[in-house]
Amino acid sequence: MDIYIAEEAGFCFGVKRALRIINQLYDSGQGIQILGELIHNKNVLKELSDKGIHCIHSLEEIDLNKKLVIRTHGIPLYIENRIKEGNYSYIDATCPLVKKIHNIIRKLNRRDTQVIIIGDEKHPEIIAAKSYATHAIIINSISEALSLASYKHISVVAQTTLNTAFFKQVIPILEKKAEKIEIFNTICSATKVRQEAVKKLAPGVDFMVVIGGKDSSNTKKLYDIAIKENPNTFHIENSSELNDPEFSGKIESFDNVGITAGASTPPQEIENVKIFFEKYKIEKERKDG
Ligand code: SF4
Repeated sequence: MDIYIAEEAGFCFGVKRALRIINQLYDSGQGIQILGELIHNKNVLKELSDKGIHCIHSLEEIDLNKKLVIRTHGIPLYIENRIKEGNYSYIDATCPLVKKIHNIIRKLNRRDTQVIIIGDEKHPEIIAAKSYATHAIIINSISEALSLASYKHISVVAQTTLNTAFFKQVIPILEKKAEKIEIFNTICSATKVRQEAVKKLAPGVDFMVVIGGKDSSNTKKLYDIAIKENPNTFHIENSSELNDPEFSGKIESFDNVGITAGASTPPQEIENVKIFFEKYKIEKERKDG
C-alpha cells in the first residue's frame, strides 16, 4: 500500500496560535478556562481537559480565579461586551482572519448596504459574525441565493472555511441581485490551500482518508471535495476507527491511499494514520506471501 499525504493538511495558523496562547498561559501556572470549544477536535480538547483546562459554555459558569480564553471561531459581540463590562480577565484567541470579517462587517454597518454572509448559520463563527451586523442575511445554498430579494447595494462576506467552488457558484447569482455588489472573499488561505491539495490528490488514489472532527466545518468541506473526486472516501476522527473490520473489508483490494486532515487536526493524528497504513502494508505483504 502506497501512502500519499496531501501537500497541505492539518493544523493551520489560527489553531497553532490559539494553542500557543494556551500553552504559554499553562506553562506560567495560570488557571485557564475556554469560552466555547477552542477548536473542533475532540482529541485536542481531551488533552486540554486532562491538563485541567476545560471549556465553559456561558459566562454564568465562569471561575473568576482563572483566565478566560476566547475560542478561535470568535464569540458574539454582546458576549464580548459582557466580558469587557464584567472586567473579567481574558485573552482573545479568535483567529485574526475571523476577526477580519468582524471588522469588515463593522465598517459596512456605517454604509447603506445589505450585508450577505455566505456560511452555516448554526456554526459558531457565523453566529459571532452575524452579531456584528446591524442586519445581515445568511445564505448557505444556491436556492437561498436565488430566492433573495433585489437590492440597490449588497456586500458579501464568506465563512472562512467555505468551499471555494461553492463561493464561485454563488457570486454570479448575487451579482444579479443588486445594482452594486462588493465582494469580500474572506475564505482563509489555510482553507484554500487544503481544498486545492485534496482536489489534486483524491482523483489519483484508490481511496482517501479525511481526518478531523465531525463538527469541524473545514474538515467536512475537505470530505465533500474528496468524495466528489473519489467515491472511496472515509471521514475519521482518529486512527482507532481504522481498526474496524468493516473498514478493512472495504479497502482490501486497494493499493494506495491518500490522506488529508482538517485545520484542527494535530500532526500526531496524521502520523498515527500513516503508521496504521504502513503496518497494514507489511501485514498484507506477509499474508500475500
Ligand atoms: S481555518 Fe483559517 S480562519 Fe480558521 S482558524 Fe485556521 S487560519 Fe484561522
